[in-house]
Amino acid sequence: MPDINLFESVLDHVCRCAVDLKLLPNVEAILKMPMREYHVSLPIRMDDGTIKAFRGFRVQYNDARGPTKGGIRYHPEETIDTIRGLAALMTWKCALHHLPLGGAKGGVVCNTKELSRAELERLSRAYIKALCHLIGPDKDVPAPDMYTNAEIMGWMMDEYSRIMGRSSFGAITGKPLSVGGSEGREDATARGGWYVIEEAAKDLGIALKDAKVAIQGFGNVGSNAAALAASIFGCRVVAVSDSRGGVIRREGLDVPALHRVKRETGRIATPPDASSISNEELLSLDVDILIPAALEGVIHEGNAERIKAGLIAEFANGPVTSGAERILERQGIVVLPDILCNGGGVIVSYFEMVQNLNLDRWDEEFIHAKLRKKMSEAYQEVRDLAMRHGITLRQAAYTIAIKNVVDAMSARGWV
Ligand code: NAD
Repeated sequence: MPDINLFESVLDHVCRCAVDLKLLPNVEAILKMPMREYHVSLPIRMDDGTIKAFRGFRVQYNDARGPTKGGIRYHPEETIDTIRGLAALMTWKCALHHLPLGGAKGGVVCNTKELSRAELERLSRAYIKALCHLIGPDKDVPAPDMYTNAEIMGWMMDEYSRIMGRSSFGAITGKPLSVGGSEGREDATARGGWYVIEEAAKDLGIALKDAKVAIQGFGNVGSNAAALAASIFGCRVVAVSDSRGGVIRREGLDVPALHRVKRETGRIATPPDASSISNEELLSLDVDILIPAALEGVIHEGNAERIKAGLIAEFANGPVTSGAERILERQGIVVLPDILCNGGGVIVSYFEMVQNLNLDRWDEEFIHAKLRKKMSEAYQEVRDLAMRHGITLRQAAYTIAIKNVVDAMSARGWV
């Protein structure tokens, strides 16, 4: 995969919208710069007694619409540019979905596969210790993202609460249910994405029953996307992959069996009636719906021409580069953009914040109904603008989001 700078790709999308929105150059300049970013060193005692320092980042991109919100990623190749890009995407995502939140993102450069559970806990607590005065329910609220999960969010909330001397459930979302987590958060990103696909499929004339689906990534988002595809929408999941590669079975994979093996062994096994497939091959399969649900930049100018799917639903953040998007546009492939499609995670995180602040607890059915309403309304707003102006869904989504951020900056008297 070529070296992709996610932040540059995001800025490229902003430039395209700035022209349509006739933004003043100084306003555009504010939107293209993070408001605050923190670089921290996290020294941890390892299990063998040695001390190792890890690098951590937190970028609070724009808080015009409210406290910033965004996940924390643990990845060996994490860079500040990726975190900046992801923090900008969070800003547009919250604004597009009309949440009273700004955007942020955090990251730690580490390989979770090489850390023991105790080391992972010490690292997660150290991250909060380093940043505790810069985050909080009315400042900046972290959540899980790649290679972080509910257990890690539980440790982080506990560390924050200990330092502040009070239980502060609303400081972190994506927590376990026993410590203020929300029903419906675990599969919220995938479920929200499927609600958008459901709406788009009606417009595009794609019958979801038996539609062929390929999914890259089999973590929180990808594995839940596969489960929901089969169980709710009756799709045929023909291929899935993780960082080690994937499997394909043209008649459809047994998704519950794949889940069982992944849970027990930590990897996707190739069943006897299926074949192995590389991540690159998965992306170019002839399927109805392609769901990248792993890393950014996986569909780029070097492979975009080989994509055959009719519809790409960006469940991951930034999986299609701006260069690739132009090629896909020429090929007539519809892309459901990340800020629209994967907003379910932050929407249910927002529901979690609201429940925590009110010491309330909502049931799953209520959350699913509220999520479905928000996702379909967002899709319709984006689709209507795209049709009215003859622009792509991404351009329409960015246009709505950026206008919402600029309106807030203007109401605060910043511009
Ligand atoms: P995760 O850590 O649970 O899973 C990541 C998956 O990607 C794993 O299956 C891993 O094996 C796979 N992967 C890693 N490197 C890969 C590679 N080079 N090729 C193919 N697969 C690879 O992470 P997640 O929470 O499922 O996040 C996935 C994507 O969705 C990320 O882009 C994340 O930013 C985005 N996202 C997540 C949420 C959320 O609520 N978790 C919300 C919005 C967006």
